[in-house]
Amino acid sequence: MTNYDAIIIGTGQAGPPLAKRLAAAGMKVAIIERKFFGGTCVNTGCIPTKAMVASAYAAHLAQRAAEYGVVVHGAISTDMKAVKARKDAISEESRIAIETSLKGMQNCTVYQSHARFESPKEVRLGSELLSSDRVFINVGGRAVVPSLPGVNDVPYLTNSSMMAVDCLPRHLVIVGGSYVGLEFGQMFRRFGSEVTILEKGHRLIRQEDEDISKAIEEIMHEEGINVRLNSKCIGFRPHSDGVAATAECTEGSPEVIGSHVLLAVGRRPNTDDLGVEKAGIVTDERGYIVVDEQLRTNVPGIWALGDCNGRGAFTHTSYNDYEIVAANLLEGDARRVSDRITTYGLFIDPPLGRAGLTETEALKSARQVLVGQRPMTRVGRAVEKGETKGLMKILVDGESKQILGAAILGTGGDEVIHCVLDMMYTKAPYTVMQRAMHIHPTVAELLPTILGELKPLMSLAPNATLVA
Ligand SMILES: Cc1cc2nc3c(=O)[nH]c(=O)nc-3n(C[C@H](O)[C@H](O)[C@H](O)COP(=O)(O)OP(=O)(O)OC[C@H]3O[C@@H](n4cnc5c(N)ncnc54)[C@H](O)[C@@H]3O)c2cc1C
Repeated sequence: MTNYDAIIIGTGQAGPPLAKRLAAAGMKVAIIERKFFGGTCVNTGCIPTKAMVASAYAAHLAQRAAEYGVVVHGAISTDMKAVKARKDAISEESRIAIETSLKGMQNCTVYQSHARFESPKEVRLGSELLSSDRVFINVGGRAVVPSLPGVNDVPYLTNSSMMAVDCLPRHLVIVGGSYVGLEFGQMFRRFGSEVTILEKGHRLIRQEDEDISKAIEEIMHEEGINVRLNSKCIGFRPHSDGVAATAECTEGSPEVIGSHVLLAVGRRPNTDDLGVEKAGIVTDERGYIVVDEQLRTNVPGIWALGDCNGRGAFTHTSYNDYEIVAANLLEGDARRVSDRITTYGLFIDPPLGRAGLTETEALKSARQVLVGQRPMTRVGRAVEKGETKGLMKILVDGESKQILGAAILGTGGDEVIHCVLDMMYTKAPYTVMQRAMHIHPTVAELLPTILGELKPLMSLAPNATLVA
């Protein structure tokens, strides 16, 4: 048995930077990875998908070239092998950088194996047993394969197996109209596939406000993506042309014949094969490891970071988990999960940048809510770029004057949202941003203007009065 000061299981977005900090603090560290260094984000998530989104954007702009007065001679098509090669190269660079950095790190031993708890302080890797008073779990998650009728009778793809696709699907049928499904759906449509999205709910991406869902649905429709809402009874059967997917929607044909099927209905944590029961670690009913505000599990000396703790599902939340643990352990700084403000992007084109509360959440909080909004058709920079889809919306607390949340669905929305997010962290009144001078012509220059046009959010709060 080899003893370490710290064992880290998984090399996702929290494990490697934590290994670096602990090793630099003089601890003897072991880090264990069973598959690809860098985990989901680097190999099957953010990085490769955003590389493909960039290829899809190029294809889309090429198709629209004439609108900008640019003449393209000949037909425009996509070389899927080249698209894949480009995204592979980008992922690989990141993966190799993480592997090289870990393997060259002083005080750090890298194991390439599957890790399982044997007891609260012991982790087994095949025939080897490691022990430590501190174990950090960063095992991430994987795609859910829903138990839909016929799912095992047909070939299906997940976000991981999509990474190997180097041909153009004739017709990609996507189950799930949320982040992963929408990003893949739009990109493959732009590459030239027919795309159908089957969503069991009555609207796409139902975590967002209705107006945002609606605007996203319009964007998908305008690009020729078939969106089938209320697909209550999804099932599959083999078909001579690929796969027949039953949707049983309230409208339209009950069956869709696709060449490929992508399942994009959510994620589950990689805790089912980790031996958590042998360590006595408590998980919730969906397998997520239960942690406190400082990411400690119920077992002293064991922490859980990243997607596996259910406190976030993004690269930035996993990295922030690392920062919280490092601050508590090494800096005497009691940082907590609740210090952070919810924020994320949806990387369709135009992207959605989100921060803080949605309109629905703000109203439920019984605050006096003010709202300012503007369609992207009234944003100069968007008009100049020929990218006027979407809208911007900012919510403000009428009493404290603090910004409660925002949704920027529009060109540059994934970047512009950070103006709002940082204001929220300062807890300053919105009037500070309202009086700030922004650069012209940008999308962000309209934020002060929107904040100067706030109105009470009347839909659910008819008695609200404007105190701004
Ligand atoms: C298609 C897709 C697109 C996404 N796009 C974005 C985006 O644009 N922005 C964003 O913020 N987030 C995005 N995400 C989410 C993001 O990828 C994850 O939230 C992020 O990777 C956090 O992961 P993590 O640190 O929890 O662990 P992971 O990155 O999942 O890594 C966990 C690692 O642990 C290893 N492991 C698991 N079990 C064991 C074991 N028992 N022994 C040894 N090793 C083990 C795994 O092999 C893996 O390498 C996307 C996800 C998907 C699926």
